[in-house]
Amino acid sequence: MSMLLEVDGVSVSFDGFRAINNLSINFGKTELRAIIGPNGAGKTTFMDIVTGKTKPDEGSVIWGDMNISLLGMSESRIAMEGIGRKFQKPTVFEAQTVRQNLAMALKNPRGPFAVLMHSKTAENARKIEAVAEEIGLADSLTRLAGELSHGQKQWLEIGMLLAQEPRLLLVDEPAAGMTVEEREKTTDILRRAAQTRAVVVVEHDMEFVRRLDCKVTVLHEGSVLAEGSLDHVTSNPRVIEVYLGR
Ligand code: ADP
Repeated sequence: MSMLLEVDGVSVSFDGFRAINNLSINFGKTELRAIIGPNGAGKTTFMDIVTGKTKPDEGSVIWGDMNISLLGMSESRIAMEGIGRKFQKPTVFEAQTVRQNLAMALKNPRGPFAVLMHSKTAENARKIEAVAEEIGLADSLTRLAGELSHGQKQWLEIGMLLAQEPRLLLVDEPAAGMTVEEREKTTDILRRAAQTRAVVVVEHDMEFVRRLDCKVTVLHEGSVLAEGSLDHVTSNPRVIEVYLGR
């Protein structure tokens, strides 16, 4: 099976400290994956490498026929190639409606004066509605983003990323600060999104990872310590050791 993204033998040091140490990890074209690991395991640095914010000292990150770890591949270029990233805090435009937020995020809006008026065309309206449906905000298109709950803002931001049609979406602790109902809905949104693209969730909360019910990769000291179902990795003595402390 050909992979969507292949991280191969990547290392990164900060002032001589190896934050990522010979890391190899692959993602398929449509999958949901959770990446877990104790503080300092290298989860954030891993996302920085995939999105081009940090360039590895060694190894390669292969995306299709491109090595996106090369210095010439900027963060914005990598984003345009189809890799989206959701940071922990939602950054929606609070004074705009849900529809306007999604319209601003649309990739390749069609029609005359597309950049200025792209929410006007039928094609764009259809795309916006499809994304709103996907994030459970179809009934909230005319609401101001500033009036949404914390969970709804997070979904809107996921929607803004989906509107850019990424083939890989990296999501950092999406359920942080959410109510139980919002967490459940977030699970549904991520699982649905992963049916047509790869969705990688970096997560601390094991209960949420259990809900996601997907393949799990455990990072430790910048490498993969274990991979498989949550039950499989959490029964691994080495994983128990790094989580419970030595
Ligand atoms: P995680 O997200 O799993 O908590 P990080 O990727 O943030 O882990 O960090 C991995 C290790 O690299 C940590 O020990 C952290 O202190 C170190 N680190 C990360 N970024 C930098 C940086 N810019 N400069 C120095 N050390 C860093």
